[in-house]
This record gives sequence, structure tokens and C-alpha cells, in this order.
Amino acid sequence: MIDMDALQKQLLDFAMSLEVDYFGVADLSRVKDFVLEQGGEAIAGFSRAVSIGMRLIDSVIDELPRHEDPSVIFTYRGLYNSVNNNLDKATLFISKKIQDAGFEAYPIPAAQRIDSAKLKGAFSHKLAANLAGLGWIGKSCLLITPESGPRVRWATILTNAPLEQTNKPLADGCSNCDKCVKVCPVKAFTGAKFNVSEPREARFNAHLCDEYIHKRELALGEGICGLCVYTCPYGQKKKAIS
Ligand code: SF4
Ligand code: SF4
Repeated sequence: MIDMDALQKQLLDFAMSLEVDYFGVADLSRVKDFVLEQGGEAIAGFSRAVSIGMRLIDSVIDELPRHEDPSVIFTYRGLYNSVNNNLDKATLFISKKIQDAGFEAYPIPAAQRIDSAKLKGAFSHKLAANLAGLGWIGKSCLLITPESGPRVRWATILTNAPLEQTNKPLADGCSNCDKCVKVCPVKAFTGAKFNVSEPREARFNAHLCDEYIHKRELALGEGICGLCVYTCPYGQKKKAIS
């Protein structure tokens, strides 16, 4: 019989050895309908999600107010791709460990968009990280960690291994702050707080963001923004929540 505590500890230690900064386990039973609607039956068949996150580099994020400068675009794109690649490698290696222990594992890449009309992936990394107690979903629809704010990229390994949920979802820490709502150049956020029973559209018009970045791409050859990541007081060195 497999010692699940030992497997969970082994996965945590292994993830840390892969330079993963955040590790948590979410029990998906409460959100099965949501997962089913977004990703279909194969995805919704898994009972647990292992959420992993890698912190971005502050000096690059702090340059995002100059996101139309080619040197900032080039550096940010490099960082984004590199973190995604490392997260994807980590999901592969962690999946292999889970599979070697006799369970199913299904890695979900860091950057995934399977529905170009709804601009969504097969599974919400942010939901898994939220359920695992690693952060809350802010008014920017980003996962906000207390320590690094939204300056983290996420990936997930779905599994049927009966791992233990690591923590309770954190309480919303946005309070009266609306810096991300105000800074967005295309006013993509409504300012509404996250509610799992409401669709993302109640909080965020992803098409406005996508169009803005596409316009930058047409004008400059590459398009980025990330002002909502930059501006969040959580993760900034001088945090100032109003
Ligand atoms: S990336 Fe820029 S355009 Fe997109 S939601 Fe964030 S602030 Fe708005
Ligand atoms: S900028 Fe403020 S409102 Fe937006 S996610 Fe961060 S804390 Fe929440």
C-alpha cells in the first residue's frame, strides 16, 4: 500500500529541487461542474490538481510601464517563454513521479489556449492555485499571492492520486484597491470581485486585452502589456494597499 503522505512530501521536495517557488494540492470535487464545462469529461475525471508556480523577475516586471519599448518587449518575452518552458518541464517530471507511483497524471502546460473564441485554456491554473490556498483571484482575474502578488506563472498536474489538499482558499485581499482596474489602458476589468459561480466575463473582457496586445503586435512586431501585473501592490517592494 502506498504511503500518500510520503508521496506528497516527495513531490513537494522534488518540485522545490526544480526551482518551483509555489506548490499546492487542490481537491477538485467542489468545482467539478466548473471544470467539466471548461475542459470536458477527460479533464473533469481527475480528483486532484497539483499546482506549481514560478516567480517572475522583478527588474523585468518593473519595466512594464515602458511596454512599447522594443528592449522591454524583447526582455519580457524572453522571461515569459523561459519561465513557461521551465514550468512545463517541471510538470513533465512531476507527472512521471506520480505515474511511477502507480497513479494517473495529466500535465497542463503553463500557456494554453484551446478556445480561441473564449480565449481560455482547458483548465484554470488560477482556480487550482486558489483552491490549494496559494492565493486569491484578484479584481485583475490574476492569481494574487500574498508574497509575490501576480508576479508568478502557473502550471498544473491533474491526478487521481488521493493527495491531501494543502490549505484552504485564501480570503480575498484586494480590499478597496482598484489599481489594476484603473491602470488597464482598455478598461478590461469591471472591478467585480471573484465569484466561482459567475462567469469570467462578469469581471474581465479578455477580448479587449487581446485586441490591445494584437494592435501593439501589428505596430511593433511583438505585443505585450502586463500593466495589471506591474501595478498590483502585492509583490511590489513597497506595498501600498488602500
Ligand atoms: S495586460 Fe494590459 S490590457 Fe491586458 S488586462 Fe492587463 S492591463 Fe489590461
Ligand atoms: S491591483 Fe489591487 S485590486 Fe487589483 S488584484 Fe492587485 S490588490 Fe487586487
